[in-house]
Amino acid sequence: MNAFEALGLNEQLVQSVTDLGFENPTEIQEKAIPVLLSGTTDFIGLAQTGTGKTAAFGLPLLQLIDADQRHPQALIVCPTRELCLQITNDLETFKKHSRKIATEAVYGGASIMMQIRNLKKGVHIVVATPGRLIDLIERKAIDLQKVKYVVLDEADEMLNMGFRDDIDFVLKNTINRESTWLFSATMPSEVRAISRNYMDTPKEVTVGRKNSGNENIDHQFIIVPAHNRYEALKRLIDFNPGMYGIIFTRTKADAHNVSERLSKAGYEIEALHGDLSQQQRDAVMGRFRSKNLQLLIATDVAARGIDVDGITHVINFELPDDMEVYTHRSGRTGRAGKTGICLSICHSRESYKIRSLEKMINKQFHKVDVPSGKEVCRKQFFHFMEKLMEADVSHGDYETYMPDLIEKFADVSKEEVLQRVAALEFSHFLKYYENAEDLNRNDNRGDKRPSDRGDSSSGSRKERTSFNRRDNGYTRLFINLGTKDGFYKASFLQFILDESNLKKEVLGKIDMRDMNSWVEIDNASAGTMIKSIDGKRYNNRTVRMNEADGGFKRPNDERGRSDRQEGRKRIYSPRERR
Ligand code: AMP
Repeated sequence: MNAFEALGLNEQLVQSVTDLGFENPTEIQEKAIPVLLSGTTDFIGLAQTGTGKTAAFGLPLLQLIDADQRHPQALIVCPTRELCLQITNDLETFKKHSRKIATEAVYGGASIMMQIRNLKKGVHIVVATPGRLIDLIERKAIDLQKVKYVVLDEADEMLNMGFRDDIDFVLKNTINRESTWLFSATMPSEVRAISRNYMDTPKEVTVGRKNSGNENIDHQFIIVPAHNRYEALKRLIDFNPGMYGIIFTRTKADAHNVSERLSKAGYEIEALHGDLSQQQRDAVMGRFRSKNLQLLIATDVAARGIDVDGITHVINFELPDDMEVYTHRSGRTGRAGKTGICLSICHSRESYKIRSLEKMINKQFHKVDVPSGKEVCRKQFFHFMEKLMEADVSHGDYETYMPDLIEKFADVSKEEVLQRVAALEFSHFLKYYENAEDLNRNDNRGDKRPSDRGDSSSGSRKERTSFNRRDNGYTRLFINLGTKDGFYKASFLQFILDESNLKKEVLGKIDMRDMNSWVEIDNASAGTMIKSIDGKRYNNRTVRMNEADGGFKRPNDERGRSDRQEGRKRIYSPRERR
């Protein structure tokens, strides 16, 4: 007997999943389907995305629907338009062999009139986002009186997004429901409250451990100084030529900046952010899904509901503040039995976060080194050579050119041709990484990895850290603001960070006096900070900021300007930094 049939599914549905190539039910399907098929048991499924939960509730729903009754019998509520469309799509494929069952996706950002018209035709299953659903209920455009089954998918996400009242409203307006099924990756108290208020002794099933990460995900982290995050990211991408990944940032500005810099450097990347119209967002997602884009960069808010198969890497450009968000991010990879890597770029002061994450998901994180320039080039080289050997030459008119080619290359050896092909493809890589520095933090430098940097270069680095660069990697800045200006340390910190748009991690010691203060800052960020603050007005005073031991520089002073330009260059180009 087919394994899906054994769970109680009918022949048509078994045929559909067979067509889809599903051989065996996933764990959540195995545990949920027999219970849900009863139609009368409330159910809580703690499962991440990628565990096959859509089929876990979708297949039983399709079997329970009475196709002869053309009114909404099932309501699936989910957080985003993307997920709404994804679920509707999945239902369409699952019901391929079933009797005519009509589904309708209702979500914001699309014509409500069209959705109302479709609902009027009579549908059996409605898949909805909360906002649009409430709108339809208030317009009396949807009749929920005969809804028997309510599914809340990604309940924790919906609550995170502030849909608590909407969910209450929906559950209060489906009074004749016979069962409620709730799916969630995590079980915060708010989700627990919903089950307490609206569900009757639900059967609770957890796939894996509660709050645990997917077993197929390898959690890795690198430790680099904060100002090297971008360079480290670039190296990680270059070191993984087959990467199909999502990069998460904490802020919209970071997503925008990183995507802009990587695009300029020739990478296929786009940022997903709140400022995009729905149409632009769909276009970006379309390109990413069809793999015309290798990389997507997004904040957590913008990435909600993204559900793409085959993601090889999730990269945390910064670790999220909320540890549970980590589970959501990492869950984008390692789906449907495939393996994936979730790689976090950390600052040394974030090691404690890694330890908390390890505890939270009960998995060990692996510290990996940022690859050296040579390692990256080697990897790219062999990747290219593999592609070369796999190139399809069976179609096309290559034969026509062969005689001429053979003649032209008659005196050139195979080795030389290979070398020239490699040079064509790699000159930019080799040049870029020629003198690339070791990005791993100092505490790593002692280990056995061959460093690209020769001894002499570390000597010259020392020479340049002359009077104003301190050996600890920080520059000391002077500022003519102090406690007499009404600042405390915290408000002062806030002021300089807000003005410069820099992160707290770039700062070292802060020394405040009545009239002046001194700030230690990561060498690479010093230029940005001076540029943002020097010359600004504060309480009718011009603020002066400059390198502490380098003399007082006026904003228009030539020397100050060239210093600032140099400072900027130091941030962007790894070679200039040395
Ligand atoms: P979901 O968690 O519902 O988003 O499903 C994640 C992916 O797993 C989707 O691409 C499904 O098509 C796939 N999938 C679901 N169930 C199975 C199964 N039993 N065997 C193989 N793939 C599956």
